[in-house]
Amino acid sequence: MIVRAIIYLLLIIMAVRLFKSIKSSMGGKENTASTSGEEMVKDPNCDTYIPKADAIKKKVGGETLFFCSQKCLDEYRNKN
Ligand SMILES: [Zn+2]
Repeated sequence: MIVRAIIYLLLIIMAVRLFKSIKSSMGGKENTASTSGEEMVKDPNCDTYIPKADAIKKKVGGETLFFCSQKCLDEYRNKN
């Protein structure tokens, strides 16, 4: 009986997570629609230009920086 209760609890947690991820992905789409088109930003680590929508945003000392990948973000943070 206890095992069954745990399984139900896990199912509820998974359902809530799924619902939240659907909600946040819908919110993300709304944001990209409002910020029109192909705004390019520069990755300060590898000097590559990437579409703002695809970039990884990171606030560093009040300044917002954009990175092409998590790897570049980590490398940049290690350098500074
Ligand atoms: Zn990069």
